[in-house]
Amino acid sequence: MSRDRQSFYLKRIVMGDLATNCYLLGCLKTNEAAVIDPAEESEILLDLIDEKGFQLNYIINTHGHGDHIGGNKQLKEKYSAKLLIHQLDEGMLINPQKNFSFYMEKPIQSPAPDDYLRDGMCLNLGLHRLYIIHTPGHSPGSVSIRLNHIIFTGDTLFKEGIGRTDLPGGSQPVLMHSIKEKLLGLDSSSEILPGHGPASTLKHELEYNPWL
Ligand SMILES: [Zn+2]
Ligand SMILES: [Zn+2]
Repeated sequence: MSRDRQSFYLKRIVMGDLATNCYLLGCLKTNEAAVIDPAEESEILLDLIDEKGFQLNYIINTHGHGDHIGGNKQLKEKYSAKLLIHQLDEGMLINPQKNFSFYMEKPIQSPAPDDYLRDGMCLNLGLHRLYIIHTPGHSPGSVSIRLNHIIFTGDTLFKEGIGRTDLPGGSQPVLMHSIKEKLLGLDSSSEILPGHGPASTLKHELEYNPWL
């Protein structure tokens, strides 16, 4: 892992009213970069991208809830990045009622996606590969993203917790199936980086997560 870590950049920025983890990752060899879940417009994020000399290739939403997509528009306007989301959550991007931001202070409307995330697909990020894992349950189009031994789990799996399933489109049996069949079988030394809260490892979750 340390060898992998040396050749890519990874930074977590906590954003917005719901303290969403936004991640900036970049290949340090080619400067190609991606942002996962820009929760809101952020000068800090833009400054960081520019300061690193990154070329932003992808804006990736783990799902369509308002607290994960509020920065899409700003990033798309500034960079020629591709906006990607699973097709089943596409409707949430442009509809503040469907993404629940309608009920918060600032209704959020994102641009439409440029392409869809599909289970098993692989995105090239310079010398690195991002593997998309469809993990529905928190929302129908929720995905997790694996980069080497790091898994970005969105609102599917948290440190010692799981995503809520009481919102429209959520399903606890579907969520549990996703976690058990799609995530827990991965290398247990894998680090998990959730959409909210601290990082963990699969090994830690297998032992201490009360839901599993
Ligand atoms: Zn969510
Ligand atoms: Zn969230």
